[in-house]
Order: sequence, then structure tokens, then C-alpha cells
Amino acid sequence: MPRREIKSPLDAWLLKEEVAEELRKVLGSRRARRVAKDPHTRRKPRPCGITVHPGQGCSLGCLYCYVPDMGFPTKPRPYHLSGEELAYALAVNPHVVPGRTLAAFGSVTEPFLPGVAEKTLEYLRAVNEWLSLPCQVSTKLVIDKELAAELARAEPRLSVLISATTTRKAKILEPGAPPPQERIAGGGNAVRAGLRADLFLRPLIPGVTNEDDIRELLHLAKQHGLQGVVAGSLRLTPTNLRRLSLAGAGTGELMKLAGLKRPPKQGTQVPVSTTHLKEIVEREAKRQGLQYLPAACAANTLSHKLNCYLCRLGPCVTGEKRDLVDENVESLILELLNYLGIRNANVNITAKGSEEPRVKVMGVPRTTGRKILNLQFFLQEFLKVRVVLR
Ligand code: SF4
Repeated sequence: MPRREIKSPLDAWLLKEEVAEELRKVLGSRRARRVAKDPHTRRKPRPCGITVHPGQGCSLGCLYCYVPDMGFPTKPRPYHLSGEELAYALAVNPHVVPGRTLAAFGSVTEPFLPGVAEKTLEYLRAVNEWLSLPCQVSTKLVIDKELAAELARAEPRLSVLISATTTRKAKILEPGAPPPQERIAGGGNAVRAGLRADLFLRPLIPGVTNEDDIRELLHLAKQHGLQGVVAGSLRLTPTNLRRLSLAGAGTGELMKLAGLKRPPKQGTQVPVSTTHLKEIVEREAKRQGLQYLPAACAANTLSHKLNCYLCRLGPCVTGEKRDLVDENVESLILELLNYLGIRNANVNITAKGSEEPRVKVMGVPRTTGRKILNLQFFLQEFLKVRVVLR
């Protein structure tokens, strides 16, 4: 069970301090010092949230994968931290806000591979119990009934994304993964266990993913009770370009759509423009009665009944709410500032009630730049609204 309800920035701040302190005692100083060197203690959230690595590497061998380019092995291994160590690493990370920072599992691995799945469940339990972070997993494997029930127990509002790219060419592109039809049926098991599941139609590969694929994948998603779809673009790397060319993809066209004259340099990932395919996905999703979501974070936000106004793709809000997260937002911010010893500050909310509200906090003394940045980040993550400190 999560520790307690987090209703204000001060609740979140106190909980973070309390959890770090408690876990430091549980781990002991030697283990805590070792964990303090782990990248989870300083990694900044990306748009999809903070990436949590229950493992490193993947054996599925999808041709478009960029994980090998990042130096991760094709033989996956579970991450070395225990659940409590990971929770401690996140508690001391200055960018993580209990109850609010989205946590995306599996960016450099497939979270349900044998050997990694147990670690994924252990991390989900620990992150939910200690910090109540809104968690999301994306998978290309089949979630069976038992796994679905375990996931729902570990994180009752977990957002599940089922990845698929094509039905017609899946065997060539994703040689180690089960057929997309089975994956999406696995998403249905997650739904029946009480979780929100969405189709993650990515990467869209121009010249490979076509309208028939999109229609069929969305139809399957609807049939199995998935709620929406997130479309994602391909990122080109030197090695996935080579692998895709061996599978007969039009690499000249892909490079053109990525704005490249020659293959990408080692160590780079260049996004391929897929606007026309995304338009088809959006149109088809509406036609088939599925929610079209602008990004993976939107699925996680909605799964946890949060409201987010952080980027121009949003706002992503639960139900009809189009106003700021909380009417008391000014007093809640002042309560935290007061606790931090910052008096005489003013809170100004611009464009309140619009789709792009901004919060300005004026009168914050210029102590060290890092502290100010962390406070700004903390408020922004909590409120899910752009915050400026002056
Ligand atoms: S507004 Fe929506 S798409 Fe933008 S960061 Fe928030 S959840 Fe993500």
C-alpha cells in the first residue's frame, strides 16, 4: 500500500525527505553510499517520465531497435539494485516528486523477458509503496492472466502500453517477439485485471507500416478492450538503418524523411517524420472509437487520473477538467515556500483556466542556482504546469 495521500507540494516534499531517511536506515550507510552513485539518483525525467531500468539489453532482435546502439547487450540482464535500493535512488533524485513524477519502465530492455520480469515486479511494488510514482510499462510480450493480476497488485493504476508496428511484416521486423495479435490479446488480460491498457503503435515506419496495418491493429485493440492509441516515430541509427535495408525497407526514403543526406553518425538517433502516418492513426482511432493520445506520458497521466498542462501537445486531462489542478494552488505553493523559510513571495497565475496556464512565483531569494532550479522543477512536476521563479 502507498504510504499516504499526497495532496499538496508540501506533502510531497515531506514524504520525499521521510522516505529517503527511512530507506537510508533500512539500507545502512555503506549500501546507501553505494546506491548514491547509481544513475537513477540523478537521471532527469524525459517527456515520458523518469526512465526506470529493471534490466539492460534485449534478446528480441527487432530490426528497428536502437538499444544495441546504446551499448546494451543482446543478452538481457536484470538490473543490480534491489527494490528498496531503487526506491532510495529515486527518493534522493532531486528531480523526482512523490505521487507525480511519471516513471516509465523498460526503455533499454523488454520488461517481461525471463530474468527481467521478476525485477520489474519488484521495482513496481517498491516504487508504488515508497513513492507512489505513476508507473507505466511498455511491452512486446504477451501479458498472461497471472502476470496481469500481479501487475495490478503491484501498481493498481499501472499504465500498460502494448507495442506493435505492423501485422503483415511483424515476423521479419520483430523475429523474436510473439505475433502482435497475441500481444494485444495480452493487453486485454491487463484490462480485465482492472488496468488501463493502450496500443503503442511504434515505431511507425514509412514504407513498412501501412494503412492496412494501422486499421487492423486498431481493430484488434478495440476488440480486446484497450482504451486508446499512442503513435510513435522511428529513430534512425547507423545500425538499425543497415538492418532495415537488409529487410527491404526503403532506406533512401527513410533518410529523406529524417532530413539526412547520408546515414546517421555513430552515437546519434535521428527521428523520421511520420506526420502522414500519425494522421491516419488519429483518423482511424476516432472512426473505431479509440482515444488518440499525443504521447506515452498522456496514457500514464490519464491512467493515474492526473491533469497535465506541461506541453503544447496537451492539455491531457481526466474528464472535462480544463482548469488548474487545484483551485487552492496559490496557498499550496506558499505553504511549501513557508516551510522552506521563503517569506514574502507572491504567486501569480497567468491565463488561469486556459489551456496553457503558467505559474509565476516572485520574491524567491537568489540563493544557490541549483536550489532554485530544483524548487522550480519540483513545483512544475507537482502541478504539471509551467512554473517560473523570479
Ligand atoms: S500535456 Fe500531455 S503530452 Fe504534454 S507532457 Fe503533459 S501528459 Fe505529456
